[in-house]
Amino acid sequence: MRHFDTICVQGGYTPGNGEPRQIPIIQSTTFKYNTGEDMAKLFDLESDGYFYSRLQNPTCDLVAAKIRDLEGGTAAMLTSSGMAATFFAVFNIAGQGDHVISSTAIYGGSYNLFAVTMKRMGVEFTFVSPDATDEELDAAFRPNTKLVFGETIANPALRVLDIEKFAAAAHRHGVPLVIDNTFATPVNCRPFEFGADIVTHSTTKYMDGHGAALGGAIVDAGRFDWTRYADKFPGLCTPDESYHGVTYTERFGLGGAFITKATAQLMRDFGAMQSPQNAYILNLGLESLHVRMKRHCENGLAVAQFLAGHPNVSWVTYPDLPGSRDYALAQKYLPKGSCGVVSFGVKGGRQAAETFMRGLKLAAIETHVADARTCCLHPASTTHRQMTDEELVAAGVGPDLVRMSCGLEDAADLIADIDQALKASEG
Ligand SMILES: *Cc1c(COP(=O)(O)O)cnc(C)c1O
Repeated sequence: MRHFDTICVQGGYTPGNGEPRQIPIIQSTTFKYNTGEDMAKLFDLESDGYFYSRLQNPTCDLVAAKIRDLEGGTAAMLTSSGMAATFFAVFNIAGQGDHVISSTAIYGGSYNLFAVTMKRMGVEFTFVSPDATDEELDAAFRPNTKLVFGETIANPALRVLDIEKFAAAAHRHGVPLVIDNTFATPVNCRPFEFGADIVTHSTTKYMDGHGAALGGAIVDAGRFDWTRYADKFPGLCTPDESYHGVTYTERFGLGGAFITKATAQLMRDFGAMQSPQNAYILNLGLESLHVRMKRHCENGLAVAQFLAGHPNVSWVTYPDLPGSRDYALAQKYLPKGSCGVVSFGVKGGRQAAETFMRGLKLAAIETHVADARTCCLHPASTTHRQMTDEELVAAGVGPDLVRMSCGLEDAADLIADIDQALKASEG
């Protein structure tokens, strides 16, 4: 296997003699076969190939292969969004009557998916603090627990997960650990190296990195032995009648069972497929991911340090800032840096934070992160505006909180913009 940076640039696709240098966009819903028998083999999962782009598309598979290699996994698939990736990764092994343990420090959309929508589907969730002890984690397991879920760096709380602690707990109870690695990206952390079994991504964020294409990905480390706990994972270890009795672990091995099942069943039935056009755009982003992440982190740290010394700022959360709550975990899991997202409190609370936001000239107000262009959000006046100050504090998103996603601009310009907006917020 080549080095990481080379995989970013050239992974997934190696053109033959006279073939296109850039990955081809296979803009076709369907694929032609000479005989019905040829196609029947595909439907029985007996041979590899494409028949309908709702399930698989060659452009998407090339990009999925690059992400698989960046994470160090055995199989990967793209999805239409990060939410679809999270849903598929969980629903592939947990259904009605099952139970899942999740860290409380996760993306708000994932929390809603778990606590509201999947609950309606009959899946029960227990949310545990990322600070939970081994004993507290052990106590959360039930006989019907099917997986543990967490985020490497939580959006927006910026908590760093102790992946080894969560993986050990999951494995003590015979279930896999699923990690959303969106904010860290495999440039800064490869969760499989710390015991995670499945990784998900919102590729909409740093992987695309230009605010251009929505997307998601799921990668399997290929190490979790479903067959050792076959009674827990019948969907992977017993025949699938909707595919002529295929048993995924037998036919595709530990390396391929999870992703093949998610493609064959969930893509077939839900169709949350990434478009080949978006996969192409995502690949352009991946080609510079290793270069961009370094700069996002440099700018994030420079802004965090500036904010930490500013008289109009009451607190700063950034995992790489010495003295921050998860500094030790960040040093262990994210030695190259965490991400470009910094959150902080503007002195003077909600009013001052709103004035600060109005004063920004370079940073744009957006509900987005991980873009090349710096963007900024004040949840209390936008995404969380229906909540009272007390409710905001309880949700960990105080009225003074501003989330700044540092882009790829010159740090001096970002700092000058923040400084003048903070001065204006004094008023
Ligand atoms: C944005 C995000 C998601 C959801 O991704 P979409 O592509 O917006 O569906 C999931 N997890 C994390 C950590 C995110 O930041």
